[in-house]
Amino acid sequence: MESFKPLCVATWNFPNASQKAGKMLDQGASALDAVEQGVMVEEADIRNTTVGRGGAPDREGNVTLDACIMDPSGNAGAVVYLKNNTHAVSVARKVMEETPHVILAGEGADQFARQQGFEKEELLTEASEKAYQEWLKKKEYKPIINIENHDTIGMLCIDQKGDIAGACTSSGLSYKMNGRVGDSPIIGSGLFLDNEVGGAVATGMGEAILKSVGSFLIVELMRQGRSPQEACEAAVMRIIKQNPNYKDFQAAFIAMNKKGEIGSYCIQKGFSYMEYRAGENRNFASKYYF
Ligand code: ASP
Repeated sequence: MESFKPLCVATWNFPNASQKAGKMLDQGASALDAVEQGVMVEEADIRNTTVGRGGAPDREGNVTLDACIMDPSGNAGAVVYLKNNTHAVSVARKVMEETPHVILAGEGADQFARQQGFEKEELLTEASEKAYQEWLKKKEYKPIINIENHDTIGMLCIDQKGDIAGACTSSGLSYKMNGRVGDSPIIGSGLFLDNEVGGAVATGMGEAILKSVGSFLIVELMRQGRSPQEACEAAVMRIIKQNPNYKDFQAAFIAMNKKGEIGSYCIQKGFSYMEYRAGENRNFASKYYF
């Protein structure tokens, strides 16, 4: 059997997450286990205000999580508007493995999590409650363009067998409307992969990413022969064309093909990604449009 070098890539500067997944891959873990446990590091980190516990709430004060996961066979699971569990990615994996469905939302996702043995948790921390109380004074909805080190984590891994898995998890945009779901849990937008081709993940303004189905687009362009870099650039250019106000927000993609080549592109300066390869865990600045 051909021997592959394991590889992990992830959005933003989350070294602990890529280190966790990369080490697991080095020790022979499956890509699926590695992506799940890798992103769980950020879900559990309460300093990170846009993933998992400690994530910023919506306008009503609810912390609601969105996450999805895909395995090398193309199976997928997702949860949206999950309110009471830190590890949305693990609930998403259970949706993939234990139900006939792909997405569970809100109350149903919550009920399913309890049935699967996930205990109810409080996701609003003291710090995010305090920031929310501050926000209430002005109630301005202004998503921050880049929140370095503190944003949605999307991760792709190749394991020693050469199989690819991916995951994406987020508390979504801070102070979003109650009920809002972003791109992160939507297969094809926040994440897509095809084990014969490669995968892509997204971060940034979910509404723009959703409208372009960007991760699916990137994988399809790679299928047609584009490099991961060329494919990411094409997806960002599509978003720029669709959104005259593109200067006001960030949208970023990373992609990886079956050969382990990486690409990354975003609208504006400031986005970076982690790459764990051959025992080295490094952060790279992404190329950007302006
Ligand atoms: N894409 C996420 C969302 O729109 C947020 C982010 O990545 O910053 O929910």
